[in-house]
Amino acid sequence: MTRKPKVLAVEVLTKEIDEKLKHFSISASKLSLREKVLRLVDIRRSVNDLGVSVAVEDGLSRTAARDRIESYIVRHVSVIIDGEELAVVSGISEYARRVRELRTEKGYRIVSGASNDADSGLNLKPDQYLLLAPEPDLDSARRWLIANRIRREDGSIQNRLLEFFKANVGKVVTTEELSYVAKTKGGDSFTRRIRELRTEHGYAIATIFTGRPDLAMGEYIMLSTDRVAKEHDRHIPMDVQREVYERDKNTCRLDGWSMEKWSKEDPRILELHHLKAHVKGGENIAKNLLVLCSRCHDDIHANRRTIPPEALP
Ligand SMILES: [Zn+2]
Ligand SMILES: [Zn+2]
Repeated sequence: MTRKPKVLAVEVLTKEIDEKLKHFSISASKLSLREKVLRLVDIRRSVNDLGVSVAVEDGLSRTAARDRIESYIVRHVSVIIDGEELAVVSGISEYARRVRELRTEKGYRIVSGASNDADSGLNLKPDQYLLLAPEPDLDSARRWLIANRIRREDGSIQNRLLEFFKANVGKVVTTEELSYVAKTKGGDSFTRRIRELRTEHGYAIATIFTGRPDLAMGEYIMLSTDRVAKEHDRHIPMDVQREVYERDKNTCRLDGWSMEKWSKEDPRILELHHLKAHVKGGENIAKNLLVLCSRCHDDIHANRRTIPPEALP
């Protein structure tokens, strides 16, 4: 629908559509298929006008479809919105492109089903959208520039993802950006690559489930580039990791340190420690794992400290 929607009083439009529908049902038996279709096209246009008019009556922009989409999404932070809703309030069928602009030009953290990612808590259908925070993110334009550059580089998906994470250490990035950098169709394989960065290569990447409960769904953060988990810690299944972080309330079991206390002077991260060492047959199960901050973790492995019984799960 490229036709510009007409903004009229909602009441007037509703009546008009009523009339058209009545007329259609009375005369339908005498009409050819083509004639019926043409009438329905006309009714659809009116319904389209009605959507925009309803939005305008509620205070959304009269002139710009993108502004209506912006207002509608901002009014529904953390609520999953269907593409069809955006079609109604905007009156245009290319709303997806407008959403992309809101993301890349205005810095809104909008994730979509196009980059669905259960690892970070996102369960969206392909044409669904979710705004993570009401305020645009001022750093976002810079990240999209970087994402754009890295996306064009040769090399594996995983290397591109890692490069993007490294360019944003300590900064929150979204699954939408990662999916863009990975340049994959369909969500699955880019999320698997991110998981591998953590579980096979040992990078300290956190989500809402793994140490950073303050993050929104669909957000990731690389906490450090110089801290890479030891080989044996890398094979803890994601669901076990989630379970342990949740059980330990995302805090170090020894000194209660949590990510909110992070500072440049004291840049710790949270890690999982095996009570019975993996090499000695300790299993990757919640009972055998403990959340520790990297400082306490180092102390334990250097035998500068032992785990008191009350800290055991
Ligand atoms: Zn350990
Ligand atoms: Zn600690």
